[in-house]
Amino acid sequence: MRMDNLIVRSDCIVTCNYNSDIIDGYIFISDGKIKAIGKGDAPAEYCDEATDYIDARGETITPGLIDSHTHLIHGGSRENELSLKLKGVPYLEILKMGGGILSTVASTRKASKEELKDKGKKSLDQMLIHGTTTIEAKTGYGLDLETEVKCLEAAAELNQEHAVDIVNTYLGAHAVPEEYKGNAEGYMAFMMDEVMPYVAENKLAEFMDVFCEKGVFSPEQSRVLMEAAKKLGYKLKIHADEIVPLKGAELASEMKAISADHLLAISEEGIDAMSKEKVTAVLLPGTSFYLMLGKYADARKMIDRGVRVAIATDYNPGSCPTENLQGMMTYACFGMRLLPEEIIRAMTIHAAYAIDRAEEIGSIEVGKRGDLVIFKAPNLDYIIYHFGINHVDKVIKHGKVVVENGNLIEGVKS
Ligand SMILES: [Zn+2]
Repeated sequence: MRMDNLIVRSDCIVTCNYNSDIIDGYIFISDGKIKAIGKGDAPAEYCDEATDYIDARGETITPGLIDSHTHLIHGGSRENELSLKLKGVPYLEILKMGGGILSTVASTRKASKEELKDKGKKSLDQMLIHGTTTIEAKTGYGLDLETEVKCLEAAAELNQEHAVDIVNTYLGAHAVPEEYKGNAEGYMAFMMDEVMPYVAENKLAEFMDVFCEKGVFSPEQSRVLMEAAKKLGYKLKIHADEIVPLKGAELASEMKAISADHLLAISEEGIDAMSKEKVTAVLLPGTSFYLMLGKYADARKMIDRGVRVAIATDYNPGSCPTENLQGMMTYACFGMRLLPEEIIRAMTIHAAYAIDRAEEIGSIEVGKRGDLVIFKAPNLDYIIYHFGINHVDKVIKHGKVVVENGNLIEGVKS
């Protein structure tokens, strides 16, 4: 079989590697991996080996974007709640009317695996044409064993069939389902005795996540779930300190979680603990925007205190229905006031840390996967400055072109 060897030439390669930063040069990808990167034109030895050449001078190249927090698999949509929300109907009222998360749980339970996969594929296509090449995908809209497993299997199959790579997270602890109403302890026992062992044994999820929030799972309950998950071999994530400061960041640090996510209400001690334990902060500015909170997580303070910050979409049907990670650059810049170089790292190398993939992806370095985005933009600043449009020209996954001139090339599984 012929190996694919690709050379890409650009005068603006944003490596997201702290040692080289931005270079005018070439990238040589062989057999899906980055084999060489250097200044100027590619040397003759690589040109001889190359089977394809892309001249992207005048354009900007970054590592493939990584969306480190999504709720990819779910049934239905909730646009009917939009006007209610704008008219000021409280979320609890919407819940009483059968809306909110309960309606998504009902739609997800009702949907077949094929239906969930069809919807998931459409989302993955959108992600890819906006530059995302790897995502994390959480469950949490099934809650019962059968539906959670159906969702994890749907994501695992899509991972095999689609160019976007998917890392699975079990988030049964997203909400207490109707059948356990008023009995969170009973639901926790069910997760720990039945679902978590089954999911672990069948290698359906790498991470376990818990929604630690007032009225959902308390820090004490979250700790019990995280300890049980750790024993079963899961890596840990936590939805922490989103609305009420509950010391979720401290808990994440103590439990050596890979990431703590949301963090609008993080404490000073929580910032220090995450910095010390190198827990990645996954911030979700699209959710702040969409919920009209009028405030964002304090990314500036976290970065200045040494916390590694990632930015993700939080793609979900309730609080952030968008697959477009490139769009999050707008909120990270104009909402959180992060600099373009901080924003791109938050969606590449730092996002790779958030899903424990920093050895393989997230920067343009020798030995890493050949995942690149070529933007129709002369420099990084321009992508964020000229906001609200899709700047993607090409997406390269495992060394293969999967998006060309902004359009998906159907059927390419890299
Ligand atoms: Zn979430």
